[in-house]
Amino acid sequence: MSNQRLNGKVALITGGASGIGEETARVFAENGAIVVIADIQDELGEKVAREIGENKASFHHCDVRNEEDVEKTVKFTVEKHGVLDILFSNAAVMGPLTGILELNMEEFENTMRSNVKGVTATIKHAAGEMVKRKTRGSIICTASVAATLGGVGPFGYTVAKNAVVGVVKAACGELGKYGIRVNGVSPYGVATPMTCGSYNMSVEEAEEGTSALANLKGIVLNCRHVAEAVLFLASDESVYVSGHNLAVDGGFTVVCAAANSNPTL
Ligand code: NAD
Repeated sequence: MSNQRLNGKVALITGGASGIGEETARVFAENGAIVVIADIQDELGEKVAREIGENKASFHHCDVRNEEDVEKTVKFTVEKHGVLDILFSNAAVMGPLTGILELNMEEFENTMRSNVKGVTATIKHAAGEMVKRKTRGSIICTASVAATLGGVGPFGYTVAKNAVVGVVKAACGELGKYGIRVNGVSPYGVATPMTCGSYNMSVEEAEEGTSALANLKGIVLNCRHVAEAVLFLASDESVYVSGHNLAVDGGFTVVCAAANSNPTL
């Protein structure tokens, strides 16, 4: 299979300075795409863009909670490269780790602004340019296993990720007539700065914890595995896939862990 699956395509990646977004930026560039990394971590984002290569990647500051930032970032992309083919709307925060009984409503609001309003604003402006320029674009949003199962993430995060799946469905329904595809990707736990930072764990501790609960044994999920799934959804190999939420979870969300340990249940 050719390793230039996005040859000449222009991609905007939010949350591209770290973790899954960073790895996806690298995988997209390896596959021939030109990438714009958007993030609030300017130094890190600029470093990742430099490492990928000046002719293949650039960084633009963007706080997805701020619609004006999002609009400017999309404009920067189309003015610099003439088109926007792919949006990977991936930026998010874990938010407060509490359950609903202890929930701080301001922190909850920030989670919704980052994870839901942010995704919505990026689709609004990216799709706006795709429609204007008659680009048959591909939009991918990062949801989570927490969008499928209750109880595997903090309350606010779980609510927000469920909403992301709703955003994907609603946008898919509206944008299909313009030839634009909208999909979600739902990873199981990956040891990124988000997970390690939120739970104050080393990469080894995080991987040990997720592996112990994983359904698929003998392999530890990493950012590249998720990026490869995003690459599929971004490329023409998924040309008729839209409205789908692609789980990258080794079957975690279709198997009851309790039944797994006691099949007679
Ligand atoms: P990460 O912390 O490594 O990356 C997230 C990036 O988003 C960071 O660079 C951060 O600066 C950026 N960001 C946060 N708020 C932002 C804002 N308001 N505007 C712009 N950028 C912002 O974490 P990650 O694990 O790579 O997370 C990427 C995505 O994957 C998130 O949507 C996350 O919810 C999702 N996800 C992660 C896991 C996991 O276990 N790591 C599992 C399922 C889903």
